[in-house]
Amino acid sequence: METMAMPTGQPWDSVWINLSAATLQPGPEPYGAIPDAAVGVKDGHIAFVGPRADLTDRAQALAHTVHDGGGWMTPGLIDCHTHLVYGGNRAREFELRLQGASYEEIARAGGGILSTVRATRALDDDALLAATLPRLDSLLAEGVTTIEVKSGYGLETDSELRMLRVARRLAEVRPVTVRTSFLAAHALPPEFRDDPDGYIDLVCRDMLPAAAAAGLVDAVDGFCEGIGFSPAQIRRVFETARSLGLPVKLHAEQLSNLGGAALVADYGGLSADHVEHLDEAGVAAMAKAGTVAVLLPGAFYALRETTRPPIDLLRRYGVPMALSTDSNPGTSPVTSLLLMLNMGCTLFRLTPEEALAGITRVAAQALGLTDRGTLRVGAWADLALWDIDHPAALSYAIGFNPCRAVVNAGVPRAPRSVA
Ligand SMILES: [Zn+2]
Repeated sequence: METMAMPTGQPWDSVWINLSAATLQPGPEPYGAIPDAAVGVKDGHIAFVGPRADLTDRAQALAHTVHDGGGWMTPGLIDCHTHLVYGGNRAREFELRLQGASYEEIARAGGGILSTVRATRALDDDALLAATLPRLDSLLAEGVTTIEVKSGYGLETDSELRMLRVARRLAEVRPVTVRTSFLAAHALPPEFRDDPDGYIDLVCRDMLPAAAAAGLVDAVDGFCEGIGFSPAQIRRVFETARSLGLPVKLHAEQLSNLGGAALVADYGGLSADHVEHLDEAGVAAMAKAGTVAVLLPGAFYALRETTRPPIDLLRRYGVPMALSTDSNPGTSPVTSLLLMLNMGCTLFRLTPEEALAGITRVAAQALGLTDRGTLRVGAWADLALWDIDHPAALSYAIGFNPCRAVVNAGVPRAPRSVA
């Protein structure tokens, strides 16, 4: 028979009581909900989550600090697809689109992404960081604790590396975890206007190896589209990623169906993103590979698209669905992940529970992160506290932020006090 030594003193650093917890753990309870919950934290990790009645002692005896909660606790939110680092803005292009020009027409006329490339190349590290922080702060005020940030507005080695460096610096000046994705195969730079294969040569031979050697790449992304890169070109980038041991993801099936989802699934990809034009073969390939579908209703909305992602097929095949802002200057100038909850429900007909899982548990999966995304013992204590009476309130409201507090690795902060 084993005996356990009784711990002396308070075993936890802090405990939250008098609240309900939406753990987002799969199971019979919607949202993995625990009414009248307690959540204990030790050394930045969750040490206990369960009904308060299951605590073995008074809260004051279990933790140095007792937080009297109220409302609901969820995992810290995760924005798993952003282009947050860039120079300039595209308000003028927004106006042009409203005057009738299409995304493709603007891109073919040399506008669109390339205007952001010019503006981004013109900024040094500090200026690029300063341009990005207000957007990040907007996300952080809504309970976001982890973001993904892509390169893809440099389109030359130095500028791509600068974008990724600035993305990493965000985590030094703000309480947030940053995952970086290398997206040089985002658009054709003006220097290679007539030589897309020559540009892909450069990406595979120089740019990606340099970014990986600098330790700046967590995943490799691409834009597989008629106005982007062909499946054959993306495959070459993925082969390079594989040779460097880096996971892949892909902007796929946004404006047309080129089979990008099946391609990224073929490489065991983390996610296929957008996927409005995804077909059943692509869904089946994603299900088989465990590739997450990242849904981006902000871009769908801003482009006034009409073809919705095949939500019913994704459900039927059990493909996990994440939601994200796609925060970018051209097609999704969004810095509210809560708004994406509402748009995911209203435009794509997700349930509020699916939507919330899509910015927590499934978003973590889309980034290959197994240490966050749900409230469970051992996970990082990245938490968000909300003045709401039911988790559906987060998807229901438009333009309303009920975030009361955010906790990063066990350390609480007020939502807007991030600077
Ligand atoms: Zn994107």
